[in-house]
Amino acid sequence: MTARWVRGATGPQRIRIRRTACERQLPEVPASEAEARMIQLALAVLGDELVPMGLSEASALIDWLDGLDRKAAAVVPVPDGARLLEGTEQDQGVYRRGRDIYVVKLGPSGNLYAKRLLDENGDRVLDVVGEPVDPDDRPRFIRESAPGMAKRLTTADRLSLEDARQLMTRYGRCLYCSHKIGAAASVARMTGSVCKDRFAA
Ligand SMILES: [Zn+2]
Repeated sequence: MTARWVRGATGPQRIRIRRTACERQLPEVPASEAEARMIQLALAVLGDELVPMGLSEASALIDWLDGLDRKAAAVVPVPDGARLLEGTEQDQGVYRRGRDIYVVKLGPSGNLYAKRLLDENGDRVLDVVGEPVDPDDRPRFIRESAPGMAKRLTTADRLSLEDARQLMTRYGRCLYCSHKIGAAASVARMTGSVCKDRFAA
């Protein structure tokens, strides 16, 4: 079966096909030959193949893609009693997921954004926390943008103040606001500080 070549799909059509095909759940088993062709074309566009496609065929493909269900968003497991962060002031804080530590704050637009804490040499802070440091020349931590992460953290991921203390002792700074803390004794006293609520009890 060869479609009669009239005029090729336009750039905007290909862009639209690519975007829609990304969002939609393509059928795993085609229901008809026509659908098999649609899937083949959609996958070709997604794979950046230069597949010959006429103007009307591209238009039919867009209509077909628009009729498909959207892909389910990646599901974040939320433990009992916890919830996803909501973008409120109280959700600002320091979180841990796996070996990564995130500082979550409200941005000017009113949305939460997350930054991953890394040691100044680029290692995860949790991977270097036990290493000895010179108290007069403490290492710094750096913050790396972690797009989308604030939407995948839950209230159960809050870093405990106990775990945070070790890190704050290493860097001599508050993980949340970067304020200098200095001596280990000050870190121990942090229970009464302004940032106490940014950690789990
Ligand atoms: Zn602080």
